[in-house]
Amino acid sequence: MTRASPFRSSRRRAAIPRVATAGQAWRGITVPRAERSSVRARVPVHFGRFRTSGTSATGSDECTATPVWTFLCSVEIGNFAELRRELGVAAAGCLIAEVEARVASAFPTARTHVTGRASLEFWLDGETRADADAALERVQRELTMSAGADGTCRIEPVLAGAAARAPGADEVRLAEAAEAAAAAARREQRIVVYDIEVATGTLDRLGLNRDLAGAIARGEMCLHYQPKLHVRRQRVTGVEALVRWRHPEHGLIYPGDFIPAAEEARVIADLTLWTLDQVIGDQRRLAKAGHDLEIFINISGQLLNDAGFVAEACDRVRSMNGRIGFEITETSVIRDPDTAIAHLREIAAIGVPIAIDDYGAGLSSLAYLKQLPARELKIDKMFVMQLTSSNRDPLIVRSTIDLAHAMEMEVTAEGVETQAALALLGVMGCDMVQGFLISRPVPFDALLDFLAAEPHLVRPIPGKGAFNQPASFWKRA
Ligand code: C2E
Ligand code: MG
Ligand code: MG
Repeated sequence: MTRASPFRSSRRRAAIPRVATAGQAWRGITVPRAERSSVRARVPVHFGRFRTSGTSATGSDECTATPVWTFLCSVEIGNFAELRRELGVAAAGCLIAEVEARVASAFPTARTHVTGRASLEFWLDGETRADADAALERVQRELTMSAGADGTCRIEPVLAGAAARAPGADEVRLAEAAEAAAAAARREQRIVVYDIEVATGTLDRLGLNRDLAGAIARGEMCLHYQPKLHVRRQRVTGVEALVRWRHPEHGLIYPGDFIPAAEEARVIADLTLWTLDQVIGDQRRLAKAGHDLEIFINISGQLLNDAGFVAEACDRVRSMNGRIGFEITETSVIRDPDTAIAHLREIAAIGVPIAIDDYGAGLSSLAYLKQLPARELKIDKMFVMQLTSSNRDPLIVRSTIDLAHAMEMEVTAEGVETQAALALLGVMGCDMVQGFLISRPVPFDALLDFLAAEPHLVRPIPGKGAFNQPASFWKRA
C-alpha cells in the first residue's frame, strides 16, 4: 500500500524515529496484503507512538517509551478576518506559519500540518487524557502574542482536540471527533477536547458524582483566573477565580458539568473553602509580582443558607488577610431570603465585597436587590454579547447601569467579546468589563504573563467615536 502521509510539514518529519514496521507502510514501503488492514487500524506512524524520548504533551522533557494516549489537536486563528483587515493580506498570510513555529517549538516531537490560511493541526502523544488539555492550554499561552508592527493586534485562537488510546486508535474517528470538538470550541469559545472512548461530548454523570468526593484530596481541582478591566482607569483591578476539574480520564471539566453535582453531593462547601485557600495563596504570589488585585470567588446559593460555611469562610478571609470578594446570584437569595440576607450582611461587615452575578438572567426582584449589601452588579453576558447587534439589549444594559449607579453599586459587564461592545459600554458609563476580548479565564502562570504584558494588550477606548452618542440616543426604543 502506498499512501502519502497527510502531513506536509517536512520540518517535523525528520524527527520521526524510523523504528516501526507498521509505520513503514505509511511511507510507501510494501506490506503484505494480509497485514494491511490491521496495520492501518493499529498504528498510523504519524501518531508518533514509537517516540522513545523527547517532549511529552505537557511540554516536559521526559522519556515516554509507550505513550498511552494519542491526540489530534487543531488550532485556528479565530479572528483571522479582523487581523487581515488590520495587517493587510500579505502579513496576515504569514501568521499561520508563525503559529506553526510556536507550536513546533513548544512540542518538538509534534507533527504539525497547516490545513488552511488560518488553521493547522498537530499530533501529539500523552500519558494521561488530561495531557491534551494541558497541551492546548500551553498553545493558548504561546499564542497570546501580539501581531502587527505596533503590536496592537492579538491572535484569538480556537483550540480543540480529540483523544484516543494509542494502541489501536482509529484515525478516521479521531479526525471526526477533532472536527466536532473544533465546532464546539468555536461555538462555546473555549478549549474543547473530545475523547473518542467516551461518546463524543457526553460524560458519565454518575461516575463523575462518585469521583467528585475525592477529587480535591487527589489534587484534581484547579483554578483559572479571568481579569476584570476597569474601564476609566484602563487597568486590571481584579480577577474572578473559576474552578475546573482536571479529571484523569475525561480531561478538563468545566464547572457547569460538576457544580450541580457538588451541590447535590454536599461537597460544595469543601470545594469553596479549598478555592478560598487557593486564591488567598495566589493573591500573595500576585502581590509579590507587583500586582495588587482583588480576587472574586463564586459562592453557590446553597452555601448562603449554611451558617457553618459562612462562619468558616469569614474566619479564613479575616485570619489570612485576603482581599477576597464573593459573587452570588440573586436567584440564590430567593430560596430563604431572610437567612441569606443576614449571612450576606455578616460577610459584608468584615469587608468582603459582594457582587451580584449574572444579573438579569435569573429571577430578579427589586425588593431583594434593595436589601442586598452588594457593592457590584455584574450584567449577565446574554445582554452583552448581542449589545451591538440587538435593538433591545443596549437599552436594557444602559438602564441597568443607571439603576446600579443609583443604588451606589459599580457595574461589571460580562461576556465582552468585541471592541465595539467595549466602546459602547464605556460610553454608557459601565465601570468594569470582563470577557474574551480582555482575556479568557487562564491558569495562574498565564495570568501573570497577561498582567506583565497588560499595558500592551489593553487598547484605549475611543473617547469620541461612533458610539459616543447622547443618552437620548440609547433611550430610543
Ligand atoms: P460566572 O461566574 O458567570 O462566570 C463567567 C463564565 O462566563 C465563565 O464560564 C467564563 O468562562 C465565561 N465567560 C467569560 N467571559 C466570556 C465571554 O466573553 N464570552 C463567553 N461566551 N463566555 C465568557 P465558566 O468558567 O464555565 O463558569 C461557568 C459558571 O460556573 C460561572 O459563571 C459560575 O457560576 C460557576 N462557577 C465557576 N467556578 C465556581 C466555583 O468555584 N464555585 C461555584 N459555586 N460556582 C462556580
Ligand atoms: Mg461569577
Ligand atoms: Mg457571571
